[in-house]
Amino acid sequence: MPCQTNGDLQLIVEEAKKYTKLGKVADYIPELGKANPGDLSIAIHYPDGRCISAGDIDKKITLQSISKVISLALVLMERGNRYVFERVGMEPTGDPFNSIAKLETMPAKPLNPMINAGALVVTHMIKGDTVEERFNRLLGFIRELADDPSIGYCERIASSELEAADLNRALCYFLKQHNIIKEDVEILLDLYTKQCAIEMNCLDLARIGMIFAMDGMDPLNGKRIMPDDVARICKTFMVTCGMYNASGEFAIKIGIPAKSGVSGGIMGSVPGKFGIGIFGPALDEKGNSVAGLKLLEFLSKNYRLSMF
Ligand code: GLN
Repeated sequence: MPCQTNGDLQLIVEEAKKYTKLGKVADYIPELGKANPGDLSIAIHYPDGRCISAGDIDKKITLQSISKVISLALVLMERGNRYVFERVGMEPTGDPFNSIAKLETMPAKPLNPMINAGALVVTHMIKGDTVEERFNRLLGFIRELADDPSIGYCERIASSELEAADLNRALCYFLKQHNIIKEDVEILLDLYTKQCAIEMNCLDLARIGMIFAMDGMDPLNGKRIMPDDVARICKTFMVTCGMYNASGEFAIKIGIPAKSGVSGGIMGSVPGKFGIGIFGPALDEKGNSVAGLKLLEFLSKNYRLSMF
């Protein structure tokens, strides 16, 4: 079913767009710096297949940190909760996503899978013998979630990040020294940067959000894509740590499970109702889409979306 442009949504996007001026595109990954800071688009995907949108929803966005929820779901299925949570914790940090600070407070196990240190450990756990095999496993899962076999990754953004990833490199070496990861750091970073560079449009992103909202079930083909327990754990992390060190404020102002990325993407899951995909590359100082947050705030208020 094609996505319908929606007038009400369009008005909210126009209003929220004013806030793009307050943000800046991420440029620590040089290729991301080329995004247009004035862009803002949204798609909402319902479990009955309906989809409404506003803005240019054909623009492709790389997942960046949004991929962290999906790789977590995959490793929880491949390895089980016990194995995963022996290696990564469940607590918010209150620190920026790329902070190294808490790793120094022993044990060095990262506090949660949504910060870079924790996400690197999760990616390390993806099964397979080669980067290609592990990446294809993750990509296959993402294609299934979005029901879109054409999803791939952006090589330019992956290699741009790999070249500029010295902070993530430092996190990896720290984790390796403490025996939390055991593989070659460059191999892990190669896989991680490809994971972050997986790209799709807002509609695909909204559909993935919808699958999490429906507890891991694809209502459109009756297929269970992940156990409900895995979807539940992922949504809980989205609430407690999904918007980095702005997750508390987000829970109060908006109140839905959501995950953001430095590309300016936000994936939202309104439990039992629908999935949301947003693209707005101008970021606030914590790395969240500044207009994307406003847009969600308007939506949450108008349609009483908060779970709390
Ligand atoms: N690829 C990015 C990084 O590791 C993802 C971070 C983000 O989206 N916050 O720095």
